[in-house]
Amino acid sequence: QIQRALRSLSIPLERLHIMKGHMMQDMCKGLSRQTHAQAKVRMLPTYICSTPNGTEKGDFLVVELCQSQVRTLLVTLYGDGNMSPNMVYKIFDLPEGITQGEGEALFDFIAQCVSQFLAETVSSDNSKAEERLPLGFVFPFSCRQTQLDKAELLYWSKGFSCSDVVGKDVVQLLQSAINKQELCHVDVVALMNDTVGTMMTCSTEGRTCEVAIVADKGSNCCFMAEAYLVETTDETSGRMCVNTEWGCFGDDGALNDVFTPYDECVDVESNNPGEKRFEKMVGTLYLGEIVRHALIALTAEKAIFTDTNIAVLKEKGVFTMQHVLDIVNNEEGTSEVRRILEVLGLQPSERDCGRVQQVCRAVVGRASTLHATGLAAILSYMCQTRDMETLMVNVGVEGELFAGYPRFEEILMSVSRLLSPECMGTLLPSKDGSGRGAAMVTAVALRLAAQRREVNEVLAPLRLSRADLEKVQALMREEMDRGLCKETNASASVRMLPTYVSHTPDGTERGDFLALDLGGTNFRVLVVHVAEDGITMASEIYVIPVAIMQGTGEALFDHIIDCIIDFQMKQNLVADILPLGFTFSFPCQQVGLDKALLLTWTKGFSASGCVGQDVVQLLREAARRKQHAGMEVVALVNDTVGTMMACGYDDPKCEIGLIVGTGTNACYMEEMRNVGTVEGDQGLMCINMEWGAFGDNGCLDHIFTHFDKVVDESTINPGKQRFEKLISGMYLGEIVRQILMVMTEKQLLFQGKISPKLQTRNIFQTKFLSTVELNGLPLRQIRAILNELEMDASFEDCVLLREVCQTVSLRAAQLCAAGLAAVVEKMRENRGLDQLSVTVGVDGTLYKLHPCFSDNLQKTLKDLAPNCDVSFMLSEDGSGKGAALVAAVASRAAN
Ligand code: ADP
Ligand code: MG
Repeated sequence: QIQRALRSLSIPLERLHIMKGHMMQDMCKGLSRQTHAQAKVRMLPTYICSTPNGTEKGDFLVVELCQSQVRTLLVTLYGDGNMSPNMVYKIFDLPEGITQGEGEALFDFIAQCVSQFLAETVSSDNSKAEERLPLGFVFPFSCRQTQLDKAELLYWSKGFSCSDVVGKDVVQLLQSAINKQELCHVDVVALMNDTVGTMMTCSTEGRTCEVAIVADKGSNCCFMAEAYLVETTDETSGRMCVNTEWGCFGDDGALNDVFTPYDECVDVESNNPGEKRFEKMVGTLYLGEIVRHALIALTAEKAIFTDTNIAVLKEKGVFTMQHVLDIVNNEEGTSEVRRILEVLGLQPSERDCGRVQQVCRAVVGRASTLHATGLAAILSYMCQTRDMETLMVNVGVEGELFAGYPRFEEILMSVSRLLSPECMGTLLPSKDGSGRGAAMVTAVALRLAAQRREVNEVLAPLRLSRADLEKVQALMREEMDRGLCKETNASASVRMLPTYVSHTPDGTERGDFLALDLGGTNFRVLVVHVAEDGITMASEIYVIPVAIMQGTGEALFDHIIDCIIDFQMKQNLVADILPLGFTFSFPCQQVGLDKALLLTWTKGFSASGCVGQDVVQLLREAARRKQHAGMEVVALVNDTVGTMMACGYDDPKCEIGLIVGTGTNACYMEEMRNVGTVEGDQGLMCINMEWGAFGDNGCLDHIFTHFDKVVDESTINPGKQRFEKLISGMYLGEIVRQILMVMTEKQLLFQGKISPKLQTRNIFQTKFLSTVELNGLPLRQIRAILNELEMDASFEDCVLLREVCQTVSLRAAQLCAAGLAAVVEKMRENRGLDQLSVTVGVDGTLYKLHPCFSDNLQKTLKDLAPNCDVSFMLSEDGSGKGAALVAAVASRAAN
């Protein structure tokens, strides 16, 4: 019988594995928006989003409501890594009956304790009475917390049942009571559960603790979860401490097959039968009881105490946790066991003593093993959700079982390691977690609030209001009008260049065309076959050596012809004379479809003798020099136009082209009558806005920030392309980097230290913004990016980096939308429509690959131009296809 009893108290490893799985499922259930209401493991959000970093400093008041006492503490932190805070405390006994009385009386009493404590501890130091004193409130009851300082009591427990508190914000109740005591300088800034306090005290400088277990009368655990998984809050960035309330694990029956008859007896005799099943197997409030019931049952089976009357054991609570600990911790002989049993009034035989000891060991060992199983579930969950192969983490522990049972630590570590071999926890004993930890929570909250204010200050100039955007839209419109008008064109920052493209495709275009694409990331030659069943293409990328980009114009165009000849040979196209469309993505003054004077080189080109020349002519002359007759240049096309044309082939409503890649630019179909720079009033003409230069005349100075100015000054064209420098891929990363440097200087990031690598210009690439802003991206990957830049980042650094990236990319998208709003509104007016329906053809890697740019752009545009119904169409190889289509449309129009 005794063996059977002991076996029932020992849970096999396979069973623990299953239990761990259940626990993980329950955790997910508790976090999910759909299922958390029914979940037994409540997974309550705590709104604690950071652990101490050692810089916390100042005086903090803590009030802890305990079972039968109120404890007040004054904790002084020195910003020294939180190694040795100074603490003064006082304990007040709760008056008889107050825990069942009126809520107001309870809170008034707590406030009086605070008042009395302060009078005794800080009265001597008058200066302190002037300062605001932050208070952390340890309130160990189940609350629905919605902020760090806002928590509705869900229900009382532990014998409390004060009226008029359930459903109310207990922070507010305490603050009102404190104000009544005329302690107006005391601010209740944080409310927390004791488990969280344990986690917070174990974190000191250079060592963060992200899990805590309280193995005490009750049992509970908290850990830092990825915030986006805590669906019961709106917080999505970073981490948040979740109070698991794992004591309720098993209330849905998940533990039924490991319950012993002794556990059933303990449960039935408790004041909440059927609830907190896990806690009742592991909490020190219950372990003595489990032993007592086991002994009663074994006596009935005549396996023990055959010669003694056990009537004393019938009384609830006679066998205490202390008895259990004294028995199990006594490894040598049974004399201590005998002494304890005799004090209880039993006359045990030698065999009885041995068996009692076995039972006690089994019960305490099981409690330790179950804690380990819970811990394993937490660690595996953290490891999985952080997308890591292995997890190393510190685990704060506190409580009677941990302190009183020396083997607890060993069992906790070895069993959790067996169950979660991928995780490695390191135990950190916590001392006075609830008191000191509450001070830490409060201190961290204040540190974060101060940091938040400073972060907001740094980012404020980058955050554009709706009015700012309307202003940009209006300015863009003004500059467009000035650019279109013959008289003002020269002084407009938006050049509004005519392209001599007057039709978008209608789908009847046919033929084979050559196309060149110069001015994007690559130089390419293409052949485009436009047929009834669609467009097919072949292309080849050619390198333009820097020596040629920056050499003579003749050499550059000779090189281009060489590439065309090579391409035609490879494609077997030598016998034909093909019409050629030339995508040339540099600003040109176009005077005909095949006549375009280069205004200026950009993007690293500087070939001599080209500016002011007709680019088409330069290409034709090179062909003549090379005696190449296999092509006829019919059109020169800007890449925005190419993009519009390529999309226009599939969607006739596409009358706008937009590029957001290395640079940014747009074109659209304007009424000829509005184009003052070209003769004629009939029909339409596509206008290449060259909007990247918007603001070069100073009209956008009010939105440029310090960061924009620094970035501008370090470019090869300072003062030029100012709008582009707020929006496009070439610059966003560098803007982010400038912000990071300022934030680091202000000690808001990276603990004030920045690597030489991150101080290198352009080292932070725009593609990093795309990665960092990916929703749900594990912080580990952000950390990896920073590691590559030789930065060691905390997870809070990662969260802040994400915010910086979001701010910069959001502003870019909004500004782009303001520009587009001006365009679509002008088109709507031009056509006298109440509602315009139009498509924008878009190209550019930033637009295509950034996770939020396009959404933000479209949302803002809808807001700024509500009467325009704008759709966006991604262009597939617009420059190649578009150039061919311009050539095709031109020949169609000519016929
Ligand atoms: P171009 O504008 O030169 O024709 P792209 O449209 O391909 O070429 O844009 C290239 C630019 O896109 C790069 O300069 C870079 O700044 C940016 N970029 C590259 N990858 C990404 C990414 N994953 N997310 C956002 N931007 C990117
Ligand atoms: Mg391009």
